Amino acid sequence: MSGHLGLELQPSAYQKRAKLLMIFRRASVVVVVFFLCGCVSDIVPATGERRYLGYTWQQETDLGKRTSKEVTSLFGLYGDANLARYVTEVGNRVLATSHLRRSGADEQVRATPVTFTVLDSLVINAMALPGGFIYVTRGMLAHLNNEDQLATVLAHEIGHVAARHAARQAWQQQIGQGLLLGGAVLSQGLGLPAQNVLNLGGMAAQLFLLRYSREDELEADKLAVEYAMAAGYDPRQVIGLFQTLDRMQEKEGQSMPSFLATHPNPGDRIQRIRELTSAARDSRTPNLDTRYLHSIEGLVLDEDPRQGFVQDNVFYHPDLGFRFPIPRGFKTINQPSQVVMAEGQNRAVLGFMGTAENSAETAAAKFLSQRGLRVIERGSTRINGFPAVGVLAEAQTQNGQIVTLTTYFIEYRGKVYQFIGYAPQQLFGSFRSAFLQTIRGFAEIQDARILGRQPVRLSLERVPRSARVRELIPRSLPAPFTPEEVAILNQVDLNQEISPGKILKTPSLR
Ligand SMILES: [Zn+2]
Repeated sequence: MSGHLGLELQPSAYQKRAKLLMIFRRASVVVVVFFLCGCVSDIVPATGERRYLGYTWQQETDLGKRTSKEVTSLFGLYGDANLARYVTEVGNRVLATSHLRRSGADEQVRATPVTFTVLDSLVINAMALPGGFIYVTRGMLAHLNNEDQLATVLAHEIGHVAARHAARQAWQQQIGQGLLLGGAVLSQGLGLPAQNVLNLGGMAAQLFLLRYSREDELEADKLAVEYAMAAGYDPRQVIGLFQTLDRMQEKEGQSMPSFLATHPNPGDRIQRIRELTSAARDSRTPNLDTRYLHSIEGLVLDEDPRQGFVQDNVFYHPDLGFRFPIPRGFKTINQPSQVVMAEGQNRAVLGFMGTAENSAETAAAKFLSQRGLRVIERGSTRINGFPAVGVLAEAQTQNGQIVTLTTYFIEYRGKVYQFIGYAPQQLFGSFRSAFLQTIRGFAEIQDARILGRQPVRLSLERVPRSARVRELIPRSLPAPFTPEEVAILNQVDLNQEISPGKILKTPSLR
């Protein structure tokens, strides 16, 4: 795991995170408006027209490159190399037919690499950053049924890039200007990782959760149909995905950052896709169904408990073997590189992460070598028997605020982990004991059931006889899956008749 914690959000924490992102998104937009708009007039590859945009192509790709690193650390990569290769292969097939690769396209555009990445998130989403960074979540992959759907989803995202929608939105909304001009507007330069996370929520999320206009979405759908068909796919298949999204929306009125939150009503798009594809001939290759399904076999379907989970207000990491209590009233954000616990009103933050050092002393020394820290107290100690170094310090943030922080470096199984809790100086006193309770609660996991917990994975079952979906779904489903959810996963209705030979996706603990 190379020093990284694989941590993911608990389902219940999604909405909290979404809210958190919103708070910081608003905060950074306020900062952003102080910057001048760097409007440029540039060519849009998808139309060949010159338009007013927020960025030049070069700026777009630079911005995408910078933000892509944050996106990866925010969501984490899904660690299945075969699946990643497959998604890239399908993506490249569609890319080859797109405006980004056509002979008439600008040389600079044609030379820009486009990457396809599978994110380790169960939120159903696909996204593109400016300059050709395309993402699809494992949650999205689980809900797709065939390669045509995957190709069309990726083509839609390529469409956003080729039509330069992010740059156009940036020009219209002045979003992200601060990213280019100010760079680290909100970062405190102190290496307070938890604080960076919260800011990152503002910076990366702005671009990442960018809501395109309805016109932009329809244009991306139009381009998706065009690219997918040219690559030999049947874009009409994507209607099944839109129907699925519609059902999920009805089921839970999702407010989390997902395809639904950033895209128009699926119902409207179905009609549009039908119109766009009315001339399409039926030339589907049926083996695109099985090839797709076999590629996602074994996919983690829910939260992956191996990478950390919260139960009864305690955080557990079975793979790394430790646990610690969460301060009461704090929300938890589990990320691939850290766990962030934030007080309800974000007045106090406690972060937990791995370090690259091999002793608590050297990790503390490295931390203290940062400029701008005033050490109040420093000492060696033991936490549940593990060697540790604790530091109490003060630091001034860029906006002049003084924060007090307590940080502990703990040696555990050959690695050094860091807790860092901080709050504005005048509030620190009221949070200190909550911080210390969590830090002192760091301990080894003893419970074999927790150590052995496995993720729910996607398995494939070939339908043996003609029957209704309801009868084909295994009687005992692993929590939290319901028969309706399994039906949604398969883009079918519970009462629908399924013919023998068809493959059903089922959640399984095997
Ligand atoms: Zn879109």
